[in-house]
Amino acid sequence: DGELPIDELVAAFSVDVPDFPEPGVLFRDLTPVFADPGAFRRVVDALTEPADVDPRAAALGAADGGPGFDVVAGVEARGFLLAAAVALDAGTGVLPVRKAGKLPREVVAAEYALEYGTATLELHTDSIRPGQRVLLVDDVLATGGTLQAAIALVERLGGVVTAVAVVVELMALGGRERISPHPVHALWRV
Ligand code: 5GP
Repeated sequence: DGELPIDELVAAFSVDVPDFPEPGVLFRDLTPVFADPGAFRRVVDALTEPADVDPRAAALGAADGGPGFDVVAGVEARGFLLAAAVALDAGTGVLPVRKAGKLPREVVAAEYALEYGTATLELHTDSIRPGQRVLLVDDVLATGGTLQAAIALVERLGGVVTAVAVVVELMALGGRERISPHPVHALWRV
């Protein structure tokens, strides 16, 4: 019906911003993808159906007719925009993986390296039950440091990451290898 493939759709709506946030970086701005109702709908639908689910999670009951995960976790801040929509679509709840100091109760924390210095992500300790299947969502997979920290938090609480779903994977930065063997479901690999 003339519908664009999802990778071409994301490419068409995203805007490349040279030298942001610093010289030499080509930033993929996805805000126009989220702002367009048709593109946002397509992206959320595509993220909700990971092509490639970790067999360890499938063994926990992905064949129950549901989406194959019990909860969606989104990484602050752009991951929040997607995770809530995906969860609503899939009929699950949503968890915020937050930057340090934002969650009010007991947390587990994981530090990860940034280009300069470190950052910390946190998850409420009681937010995941052992064996719970978690779909992790963010907008962009770059070096993989952010999602690696988010995976560590889920696993420390006994959760099983069924897949990592992102809109864009920046292939040259090696994120997929870094978070291996966790399957990455990327809508646009560039
Ligand atoms: P990583 O930890 O994989 O190096 O970086 C991923 C994080 O940085 C994601 O949370 C993502 O939001 C942000 N990020 C890195 N590069 C880009 C980019 O080109 N565009 C957007 N929108 N976010 C980026």
